[in-house]
Formats: sequence, structure tokens, C-alpha cells
Amino acid sequence: MSVLIYAENAGGKFKKSTFEAVSYAKDIADQNNTSLIAISIGDVAAGDLAALGQYGAEKVLNVSNAKLKDFVNQAYASVIAEAAKAQGADIVVLSNSFSGRGLAPRIAVKLQAGLADGVVELPAQDGGKFTVKKTAFSGKAFATVELSSAVKVISLTPNAYKVVPNGTDASVEDFSVENKESDFKAMIKDIVRSTDKVSLPDAEIVVSGGRGLKGPENWGMVEELAELLGAATACSKPVSDAGWRPHSEHVGQTGIAVSPNLYIAIGISGAIQHLAGVSSSKVIVVINKDAEAPFFKVADYGIVGDAFEVLPKLIAAVKEYKT
Ligand code: FAD
Repeated sequence: MSVLIYAENAGGKFKKSTFEAVSYAKDIADQNNTSLIAISIGDVAAGDLAALGQYGAEKVLNVSNAKLKDFVNQAYASVIAEAAKAQGADIVVLSNSFSGRGLAPRIAVKLQAGLADGVVELPAQDGGKFTVKKTAFSGKAFATVELSSAVKVISLTPNAYKVVPNGTDASVEDFSVENKESDFKAMIKDIVRSTDKVSLPDAEIVVSGGRGLKGPENWGMVEELAELLGAATACSKPVSDAGWRPHSEHVGQTGIAVSPNLYIAIGISGAIQHLAGVSSSKVIVVINKDAEAPFFKVADYGIVGDAFEVLPKLIAAVKEYKT
């Protein structure tokens, strides 16, 4: 028995959510007195592969193949499933990222495994039962599910687990699989970045604006604050519906679900559909001129005030702090 973690990279660099998933998988391996093996697909520097050992991986399988340089859902799923079989892994862990969400069900089918996606805690393993807590209904609720299958596939919600780098470097070995032609039926031909800004789903800090900002001409303040904080920008649904901001920034039940360490909501009322996508943020700061705005009920810090007065002061304070 062993635990296998898929270590996802973006442009050859491991993401923070990958380190979280490795730390999480290591703790599952410890629960079961077994070892943790990581698999990386694509071009990642040898030093970065070995450094996964610092998060708990004992061994790293390196799949470096020109056809697999960029993410190909079917082909990656085949490689990870074959690695799980070859290593005798009965628990496969991924990050519940965009690609993790595509891979996890495919891997589960290939391994005839039970699947729990979007988990937020270590599994409870009592009396032969294996149960995990996971998000449900766009983050509005949690569900506890039991996986009774022999092999289990688990994807971890980003920002839900602490990263603990305290190990030593892992050994790295090459691994390859003969992919079938059918694995390459859907291929990425080109990646066009719409922006150089921080990606919203992976952001550790999000600065978000609502209808209280009155119009697109006032977003300069939001963008300035976001840039100073190294944050991604987001918005409420009516803001993107009105064309003030792109739909890719809309968070909530019908938009992107985020779980950053810090979510700053400016001029957003805090409707239940908006909260569905942001309530798992670690710290929520609300700026709203209405002290009765529902968002304050879930805020860790609240500023009752006019965004057009508060934001310039906040920006000036951050600038001063940074100098
Ligand atoms: P408003 O509700 O108009 O709130 C504006 C806020 O700004 C108010 O609280 C006001 O006090 C404050 N304000 C005004 N002026 C200032 C100022 N100068 N300074 C500071 N504060 C100020 N919404 C989402 O966001 N995401 C979703 O995914 C989503 N999905 C939905 C799905 C369905 C099926 C439905 C029915 C609705 C959905 N909605 C969603 C819409 C949601 O119900 C709310 O209408 C929406 O979130 C409100 O957006 P808002 O807070 O920006 O605007």
C-alpha cells in the first residue's frame, strides 16, 4: 500500500496548492504508516522535483515527454492511473484545481475507485471506515462522505490545508507510460493569456468590487490596491452582467469559487449567492457604507464607510507600509 500525489505544475513551477496537496497526502500516508510517492508530468527542474521531499514525498516519479509537456486531460489521467497501479497506491491525491477537477473522475474510473472531490480535512479512518469532509453546493455546505472502495481518489480544496516544509529532498526517478492515440483526441493547441495578473482561482489575496463602486471608471482604485497587495481582482455578478468587468472575474454561486487567505469586498452587499463562492476565504474584510449590509455578518474585519473615501486611504497606507 502507498499514497500517490499528483504534483501539478504551471509553466514548470509547482503551485502553492501542489505543496498543500503534498503535505496533505503525507499526513494521510502517516495515518496509514506508509510512504508517499509523488508524480510530476511536464518539464520541471530536477531541484524542484527533489524539493517535493521537503513536503513529505519519499520518491518523485518524473514523466518528461514532449507530447505531455502541456496538460492533456485523458493522457495525464492514463499516466497517473498507471503510476498508481505500478506503485500499488490505493489512495491517489490531487489538488482540486481546474485540471485536478478534470483528472480526478477520469483517474477514479480507470482505477475503479471511489472519488471525493473538494475535501477540506484529513480523512477519519475509524473501524475500517474511511470518511472525508468535503465542500458541497458551491461551498455553501459541507458533506461527510464514506469511501468504501479499495482504491480512493481525493482532491483537496486549495487553501484548505497548511503547508509544512520540514523534510529532506526526495529521490527522483523517470517514469513513462505508452499512451494510446485516443488519449490525445483533445489537445491544447495554444495558450493565450488574457492577462498577466494573478490568476483568480489560485490567488492568496482577492480584492473584489460590487455595484457600490458605481461604474467601471472607478475600478482603478480596486486594481491599484490589488497590484500593491499582489492580489487578483474579482467582482459581484451584476458588475460583470453590466459589462463593468469581464465575466472571468465574477465570483459566487454562478461564478468562480475562491478560497484565498484574504478576501476584501468593497461595495458588495453580501447576497447568499455571492457568499457561496467566497465564504471559505480565511479572512474576510468588508468595506460598505451600510452598517446593516449582510456581508458584515460573515466579516472578520469590517469598515463602515464610503469606498470612495476608504479606498484611497487604504492604498496610501499600504504604500507607506511598503516603503
Ligand atoms: P448590491 O446588492 O446592489 O449591493 C451594493 C452594495 O454596495 C450595498 O450593500 C451598498 O450598501 C454598498 N455601497 C453603495 N455605495 C457604496 C459606497 N460608496 N461605498 C461603500 N459601499 C457602498 N451574485 C454574485 O455576486 N455572484 C453570483 O454568483 C450570483 N449568482 C446568482 C444566482 C442566482 C440564481 C441569483 C438569483 C442571483 C445571483 N447573484 C449572484 C446576485 C445576487 O443575488 C446579488 O444580487 C448580487 O450579489 C448583488 O451584487 P452587489 O452586492 O454588487 O450589489
